[in-house]
Amino acid sequence: MKIIKSNKELEALNSKKLAFVPTMGNLHAGHLKLVSEAKKLEYEVIVSIFVNPLQFGKDEDFDSYPKTLKEDKLKLISKECDYLFLPKSKELLNGIHQETSRYNNFLCGIDRPEHFNGVASIIRKFLEIIKPNSIIMGEKDFQQTLVIKELIIKHNFKCKLITIPTARENSGLAMSSRNNYLTETERMQAAKIYSTLVDTKNLIFKNGFNRKDLKNKIIYLKKNNINVIYFDLFDAESLESINESPHLKGNFVLATAAKIGNTRLIDNIVFSI
Ligand code: AMP
Repeated sequence: MKIIKSNKELEALNSKKLAFVPTMGNLHAGHLKLVSEAKKLEYEVIVSIFVNPLQFGKDEDFDSYPKTLKEDKLKLISKECDYLFLPKSKELLNGIHQETSRYNNFLCGIDRPEHFNGVASIIRKFLEIIKPNSIIMGEKDFQQTLVIKELIIKHNFKCKLITIPTARENSGLAMSSRNNYLTETERMQAAKIYSTLVDTKNLIFKNGFNRKDLKNKIIYLKKNNINVIYFDLFDAESLESINESPHLKGNFVLATAAKIGNTRLIDNIVFSI
C-alpha cells in the first residue's frame, strides 16, 4: 500500500479505475467493508484518513476523536488497499470552497448546524484533487450519502456514488468509531437502537404509519437511558418527515440520532413499500 501525503503525489497517480473511500480513521469492519466491496468491483482503492475540522461543532469531539493510524494501516494492508491518503491539513483546507447543501438543516443538521456543509466542502476538495471514478460510502450515514449525491450532480463530477449496507455488531449495533466511547453497559443499551428501528419498521408494514406507535417507541428508548434526538420516518429523497398514513407507498428512511451518556450515535433502515 502506497502512502500519499501531498497533492503533487496524487497528480502522479495513474489509475484507470479508482474508488475513493473517505474516512476519519479509527477503522473498523464497517470501513473495511467499503474497501472490500470496491476491490470486488475491481477498483484500485484509495482511502483517506482525515479528521475534518469543518464538520465538527465547537462543543463536539474534534480534539478527542480516536486516532489509531498504526492499526489502521495494518487493517488496510490486510484488505489490499492500494493507496492511503494522509493529507496535510494546511494543503487540503487551503482555498477550500464553502458548500451549502439543501439537506444541511434536516435530521442530524438540526443539532449539528454546519455539519453537512462541512462534509460537502471537504468532499468537493477531495473529488477535485483525487479525481476518482467512484466514491464509496456507508448507508449508516444515509443523510451524508444524499449530500454527496447532490454535490456530484451540482458540480458535474464524473464520479459514481456507491453506497454499502451498514456493518453491524452481533447485537445489531451499527459499527462506529464512537462506539469506543461506550462502556459495556452502554453498548448493551445501544443495541436497543437497532432492534427498535426493526420493530418500528415491522409495525409500519403491519399497521401503516401512525405517530402513536412512533411515540411509544421513543418512550421505550428513553426508559432505556437512550436520549433520543430524533426518531422518525422520512422520505428517502427529500428527507421530509412523513405524515400518518394507513397505506404508505414510496421509498423511506426510518432514522434516528440518540445520545447515550455523552456519545452521539446514529442509525437507520432504508426501505420501500
Ligand atoms: P467515518 O470515518 O465515520 O467518517 O466513516 C467513513 C465512511 O465509513 C462513511 O462513508 C461511513 O458511512 C462509513 N461507515 C461508517 N460506519 C459504517 C458501518 N457500520 N457500516 C458501513 N459503513 C460505515
